[in-house]
Amino acid sequence: MDYFTLVEIYERLTKTSKRLEKTAIVAELFTETKIEEADKITLMLNGRIFPEWSEEKIGVAARLIIKAIAVASGISAEKIEMEWKKTGDLGSVAEKVITKKKQATLFSHKLTVTKVFSNLQKLATISGEGAVDQKVQLLAELLTSASPLEAKYIVRTALEEMRVGVGEGSIRDAIAWSCFPRFVQLFDDAKDIDETKCKKIEAIEEIDKLDKKDKLFFVSELQAREAYNKLITALDHAYNMTNEFSQVIAIARAKRYKGLTTLDIEPFRPVQVMLYQKAKDIKDAFAIVGKPAAFEYKYDGFRIECHIVGDKIKLYTRNFVDVTKQFPDVVDAVRKHVRCESCIFDSEVVGFNTNTTQYVPFQQISQRIRRKYDIAEAIKKLPVEVNVFDVLYYNGKSVIDTPFHERRAILSKIIHPKDRVILLSRIMVTDKIEDANKFYNEALDKGNEGVMVKNLEAVYKPGSRVGFGVKVKPVMESLDVAIVGAEWGEGKRAKWMTSFAVAVRDDDGKLMTIGKVGTGIKELEGEGVTFKYFTDVLKDDIIEGKGVEVKVHPRMVIEVHYEEIQKSPTYTSGYALRFPRFIRLREDKGIKNCSTLSQVEELYKEQRGRKI
Ligand code: AMP
Repeated sequence: MDYFTLVEIYERLTKTSKRLEKTAIVAELFTETKIEEADKITLMLNGRIFPEWSEEKIGVAARLIIKAIAVASGISAEKIEMEWKKTGDLGSVAEKVITKKKQATLFSHKLTVTKVFSNLQKLATISGEGAVDQKVQLLAELLTSASPLEAKYIVRTALEEMRVGVGEGSIRDAIAWSCFPRFVQLFDDAKDIDETKCKKIEAIEEIDKLDKKDKLFFVSELQAREAYNKLITALDHAYNMTNEFSQVIAIARAKRYKGLTTLDIEPFRPVQVMLYQKAKDIKDAFAIVGKPAAFEYKYDGFRIECHIVGDKIKLYTRNFVDVTKQFPDVVDAVRKHVRCESCIFDSEVVGFNTNTTQYVPFQQISQRIRRKYDIAEAIKKLPVEVNVFDVLYYNGKSVIDTPFHERRAILSKIIHPKDRVILLSRIMVTDKIEDANKFYNEALDKGNEGVMVKNLEAVYKPGSRVGFGVKVKPVMESLDVAIVGAEWGEGKRAKWMTSFAVAVRDDDGKLMTIGKVGTGIKELEGEGVTFKYFTDVLKDDIIEGKGVEVKVHPRMVIEVHYEEIQKSPTYTSGYALRFPRFIRLREDKGIKNCSTLSQVEELYKEQRGRKI
């Protein structure tokens, strides 16, 4: 595909905020997408070159891009920088200066999506001597061939600053529309039908009250709707199994509906983990989950999905990052204490204090996730225990559709527990509030975050926050927010960033700011989280700076507590956190897993409810 075709799609997407319109535009794009290009196009649609879970990043700073624009346009870097300072948007600057140049020369060759993708991907691999010049060359090569509009989007992609934003829901629907166009036709027909009549037909029985012609239409329309919902469920299923929209497109085109539904989990292809809702207290937990329910400790660690086939063992975070190398102690524990031919299990890895029976907060062991050297020493200093709480695959077969109590029985068979090494999560099944409360207090006394409460008959639903399980924690729900900006400190702290602009995701995955966090970090200095640490990490991610404020590539996720959520015009989310306080880094989470605007809206409503 020509890059320009994709660029036109970007332009059209920026002009609408309506979800259905966005879906239609993306569906059009997918109709023209060849299967070989689908992986690149689904990533680039959201301005990405590497999948969200990948540790690779393009890693070019604004200065380097300015140099490349200068080479491609013949305009001096100083002039470009001045323009940039005025508008703060390097993409638009590139568009403007390339326009000037294009009046004189015609662009050399047509850019393809593949060419842009591969040049940008190469940027990430170049290092060592002469790296900067080579990177400038690669980018300049693209910009020289680019039309002004193309230049704008190449720069935004290189900076990882795409502002288009298409949510996963729209991408999924667009696949449905493009691969199964018959449905779109049906819905187009439905538009001609009287709206008020449509509203009345909420139950199938009501159809009998209609005259014959209308009846015929509504029966077929309801059936179509039902079929469409089934298709959407199948696409969700396929995405949860593969984690890649490009694969979903390929299957939908080649193997159609059946291929989507029969897709299953496989070892060494990480599965989206099941998520849990929050319950206010034990009583509320019973109301959501049902009685009796399984109560488990909610360990304060990080989630590890372990895949085993014979001798081969791999560990993935909930973000699909392969952390096998960082945890040879866990691999060893699995090798010695898990008996199966093949299996995928879900677990929480938690740190413990060797001198007491207490667990230690996640913050203390989180550094092990990113630690790539001196691993033996880290194991000694920060030992961990694996608490296995679910199984998704067992001896060659998926067991996600097996009821929870049966999955637990499988775990009892395959895990041979050893204290402080690998255990089954502590569990108690009860229908009595008093027993549950006792268990909850015991969990907290041992240094856990709270309890998980699970329905005994429930299946495992990858990727969804269904009410099959809930968590009960004592504090007001914390938020996991992305750092999108920072402020340099003053006086003695001028060399550090000391305050951080944080954001949550809206439905389209766009980050919307919600506050600034500075409090809480100093208090955790003893645990290795310092302003220096934040500064060192974020320094390389700066996109632009104005005075003491900088904007950074959103990459880092942190957990924050706060006293209250307020409505506020100051931030793009429309809300502000009152007295936000840093709790911990969430290295195990990516931008995609940070809290959503809908969650904030819910929490806002809940807290208002409490006050009344
Ligand atoms: P939260 O991160 O607050 O939404 O809580 C859900 C997380 O708790 C899961 O993603 C797991 O990482 C963690 N967790 C700890 N213990 C358990 C358990 N027994 N069952 C399920 N999840 C657990």
